[in-house]
Amino acid sequence: MGRTAKSPRWSIAYKFPAEEVVTTLRSIELNVGRTGVITPTAILDPVRVAGSTVQRATLHNEDLIREKDIKIGDQVVIKKAGDIIPEVVNVLADRRTGEEIDFAMPTECPECNSELVRLEGEVALRCLNPQCPAQIREGLIHFVSRNAMNIDGLGEKVISQLFSEHLIHDVAGLYKVTYEQLIGMERMGEKSATNLLKAIESSKSNSLERLLFGLGIRHVGSKAAKTLAQYFETMDALSQAQLEELTAINEIGEKMASAVVAYFENEEVQLLLSELKKAGVNFSYTGPKLAAFETIDSVFSGKTVVLTGKLHQMGREEAKEKLEALGAKVAGSVSKKTDLLIAGEDAGSKLKKAESLGIDVWDEDRLITELKS
Ligand SMILES: [Zn+2]
Repeated sequence: MGRTAKSPRWSIAYKFPAEEVVTTLRSIELNVGRTGVITPTAILDPVRVAGSTVQRATLHNEDLIREKDIKIGDQVVIKKAGDIIPEVVNVLADRRTGEEIDFAMPTECPECNSELVRLEGEVALRCLNPQCPAQIREGLIHFVSRNAMNIDGLGEKVISQLFSEHLIHDVAGLYKVTYEQLIGMERMGEKSATNLLKAIESSKSNSLERLLFGLGIRHVGSKAAKTLAQYFETMDALSQAQLEELTAINEIGEKMASAVVAYFENEEVQLLLSELKKAGVNFSYTGPKLAAFETIDSVFSGKTVVLTGKLHQMGREEAKEKLEALGAKVAGSVSKKTDLLIAGEDAGSKLKKAESLGIDVWDEDRLITELKS
């Protein structure tokens, strides 16, 4: 029967339906995340599902608890979604005894007692206190995580302990932790303390994108952090970037650009960054360079160009290569970020769109002339 590019023809994937089980929901715990979002979690009577014992299930937010009419003490159906995080499918309301208790979200942060707010357009409740210990602790856990600074041996437990014993209060504090402090902690042997210090030390030379992601700038995920690091190459350049420079990058939207600008304008952030710099943390991108973008002196450098219609003197692919070699970024579709449209014969909707957006349009002759100059 042979095989296709992906798999042999004689085998097909069969997905088993997720296993569902019934258990009792004992209580609802509230967790404060890194960005202040309050997430309710169901605490269950332990039950085996899909090969493991489950004691917690995510409830996502208050709306979901209302929608599913979940009460404390309810018999609930649990499913492991994608076999990772268990969730409550539904409540068995006919099994109620009348002893079940309605759940109400608190009006105050369970960790710092600040008033919780629901931001416009969001379902989640948030604690907006930047000094909230839960948020700081979660931020530290994020900073050392695998896609961020990737500090081996610094798990949630060690971070929580360092934080609760006031040995660190921000990410810069990690770089001031001493051997004596570590060795004084519970379950911390000489060897783990030494290894941990080594891991912290070596994280200083991480490429910029890891630090950027670790800092937890709003809307900046690990992929966006990489893009920003590649384009700006240093923390200093990025911290001075204007909104327009950021939105000119294809992958960076308005929301993220504003968040980046706001982040670096914050005085506390400036202080934190200078602490990190003093500690010797690398502020530069050390990965492979972005292909000549914005570094070449030509009319095309730094411009986003779109090709459309039929070209006669060269193929589309050849034109693309030439433009890229001159520092242009060649995109597939016309948007507000397009600087220039090259319109060959029979150009259609892209030409119309470019004209309506007031984007420069060149014909093939103009392109050839500029490529030669
Ligand atoms: Zn709080």
